[in-house]
Amino acid sequence: MSDAKIYKNFINGKWVESKSGETFENRNPADTSELLGLFQKSNEDDVNEAIAAAAEAYKSWRLVPAPKRGEMLYRVANRLLADKERISQEMTKEMGKIIKETRGDTQEAIDMTYYMAGEGRRLLGMTTPSEMMSKFNMTIRQPLGVCSFITPWNFPIAIPSWKMMPALICGNTIVIKPATDTPLSVVNLMKACEEEGIPPGVVNMVTGSGSKVGTPMIMHGDVKVVSFTGSTEVGRIVSEACAPNFKHSCLEMGGKNVQIVMDDAKLELAVDGALWGAFGTTGQRCTATSRLVVHKDVYNKFIDMIAERAENIKVGNGLDESVEMGPCVNEDQLNTVLKYIEIGKTDGAKMVCGGERLTGGDYDKGFFVKPTIFTDVTQDMRIWKEEIFGPVLGIAKCNSFEDAVEMANDTIYGLSASIYTQDINKAYTAMRDVYTGIFYVNAPTIGAETHLPFGGTKETGNGHREAATAALDVYSEWKSVYVDYSGVLQRAQIDNAE
Ligand code: NAD
Repeated sequence: MSDAKIYKNFINGKWVESKSGETFENRNPADTSELLGLFQKSNEDDVNEAIAAAAEAYKSWRLVPAPKRGEMLYRVANRLLADKERISQEMTKEMGKIIKETRGDTQEAIDMTYYMAGEGRRLLGMTTPSEMMSKFNMTIRQPLGVCSFITPWNFPIAIPSWKMMPALICGNTIVIKPATDTPLSVVNLMKACEEEGIPPGVVNMVTGSGSKVGTPMIMHGDVKVVSFTGSTEVGRIVSEACAPNFKHSCLEMGGKNVQIVMDDAKLELAVDGALWGAFGTTGQRCTATSRLVVHKDVYNKFIDMIAERAENIKVGNGLDESVEMGPCVNEDQLNTVLKYIEIGKTDGAKMVCGGERLTGGDYDKGFFVKPTIFTDVTQDMRIWKEEIFGPVLGIAKCNSFEDAVEMANDTIYGLSASIYTQDINKAYTAMRDVYTGIFYVNAPTIGAETHLPFGGTKETGNGHREAATAALDVYSEWKSVYVDYSGVLQRAQIDNAE
């Protein structure tokens, strides 16, 4: 018998076992001998129970005044803040990213929760004059009902909070399925809600696989919004499943983000940005820099500078404060990275550092790979086109600013991009012409703040944005209200047409 801790689903305010009676393991990718716990391998019956609880709770939650909902979220934020260090340590253990970054991930959830708590006293609509006498016009936001959330492993608590907090403040109830690699972080989020008095059924969590739990969460007739963050491949499946009944879907998907370095850039700064953008979170960010476009006049110098720094990145267990890059999240992801390194070589790119799995000593316990850089990358190569989601950076040469913009846009994705230049005209032109949802000047492609909209164009998203007040548009629908106090029938576009 294993003495591993058993974590349960959270349904209708209670911690309950799955009807399947089965569990799955959650292990530390930096040391696979460490078992963090056993989680419920749930099925459709569990999903149905969670959705029924959320549908029932919606009847009263939607009527709780938004400022009161905000007060509850404010307390949840305080709780997350008090538990920040423990939550972050557990997150590093379950997904591998370094402790500085998991503290950032938890902080992002705290920021989002405070932010949306404040929205409880705004949720602004508008009033506007009527075209008729003695008539009052206004818009109000109305919630939709039960929302299903399907989330990835790379931001285990931040991404769930981006979905949950705007949905709750608008008056919806939710069911979430965390990624199977990172359920513990969502358990921590549920605990904070439970401890701070979010009523039973308002938030529910069901753990398990995409097919057994994710699919019924999308298909269920009582679900009004599906919010998904993950790969473009699965996002397409979600979109198609929602289409027949016009179920709302908010999709945040893949990226192939570019950093442009012009000949007038501060090169040290551009190297700092590229290293953080490419190798932060072991390259497993949707906004990670995976393409660098460098002007020909500084190309060789830039490559020498970045390769030397990348060689010296300290890789290891993310709980060690001195470590700069953790492991890949699991063996599949490690194998994907190693596969793309081989593809890069076969396609003719030049590898200037890294390129192999780290072995020996403690490295043998986890899924560690060296930070890897390819140069001489061309636009026909697979490492230029395809999302790798690992610490592999491809560098291509450009001849001019116009070239750089064309190359930046040469991707099916459109999440994030950045330019390093001292020329304000080039910075603004790139800001206008690079077609992404997020753009940085003299900063890396990563580093979003919670009060700005987050999301991407093209095959990265379906037009919605997370975070900021933009998120409220996903979790509410506008109702236009006309109040006629004239006491007579007034016909729009008819009675006052002359
Ligand atoms: P993934 O698509 O494999 O899985 C995401 C979630 O979907 C998981 O919870 C998974 O269990 C579930 N799932 C898988 N198949 C499903 C199905 N058929 N039906 C329902 N649910 C299903 O992605 P991942 O590997 O967890 O995350 C990496 C991907 O996420 C990358 O492509 C990355 O770019 C993307 N991502 C995007 C953003 C963004 O905001 N644009 C943020 C983070 C990650």
